[in-house]
Amino acid sequence: MAEVRLENVTKAFGKLTVIPDLSLTVPDRSFTVLVGPSGCGKSTLLRLIAGLERPTSGTIRIGGEDVTGEEPSKRGISMVFQSYALYPHMSVARNIDFGLRISKMPAEEREKRLAEAARILSLEDFLDRKPSELSGGQRQRVAIGRSIVRNPKVFLFDEPLSNLDAALRTQMRVELAELHHSIDSTMIYVTHDQVEAMTLADQIVVMNKGRIEQIGSPMDLYDTPASLFVAGFIGSPR
Ligand code: ADP
Ligand code: MG
Repeated sequence: MAEVRLENVTKAFGKLTVIPDLSLTVPDRSFTVLVGPSGCGKSTLLRLIAGLERPTSGTIRIGGEDVTGEEPSKRGISMVFQSYALYPHMSVARNIDFGLRISKMPAEEREKRLAEAARILSLEDFLDRKPSELSGGQRQRVAIGRSIVRNPKVFLFDEPLSNLDAALRTQMRVELAELHHSIDSTMIYVTHDQVEAMTLADQIVVMNKGRIEQIGSPMDLYDTPASLFVAGFIGSPR
């Protein structure tokens, strides 16, 4: 059970209040997509959930538990970024299970998780390769593999496909949808690509200046946008 709940969360950097009093429930196992203009606070929101930033006030719960003061490593979350730094001198396998090795997980469990991640991401035939021998999409899959082996309850994605070309983005979109079906995790996904948002989301959260403009299913937002802002954001072509 990994519902994510933000209760009256405010985040200020000095005098700049980036997120004023935001409350949001992300249902367990949903694919929730955050959209909104650049600078509206999407990455900050993910970083607050991950514990990479602490809220100025308010409460963050994961699976009902108050994690507001909890270390990132104890939250059962994993974050995938737009720029993914793989270790160039290590094989795909070592890149994927590196985190498990440093946590001293027993070899048997580590190998089981590596094999499972490789299967889910169709990387079985690439485990011995170096990152330089992979395509951009394969590299991004390796980065996602690093998250999968940690068995997170919640995946956070911050524009993970924005460095890929259009064809790869389309392919990865399909793979992300399959990933969501094959593992029982809650996914919170930031994108500025409305096709990604409309095709992947159970629930779309439209943000503007640190506030939520509207939450709903893709069809809700498309059919009954609550404001011109939402209509413009959902309806406008890229
Ligand atoms: P988005 O991901 O939606 O583009 P961000 O969450 O990155 O937006 O940023 C929201 C606002 O917070 C921006 O005005 C940004 O400059 C500011 N901001 C983000 N991180 C910091 C920080 N560490 N210190 C000061 N300001 C920050
Ligand atoms: Mg951002």
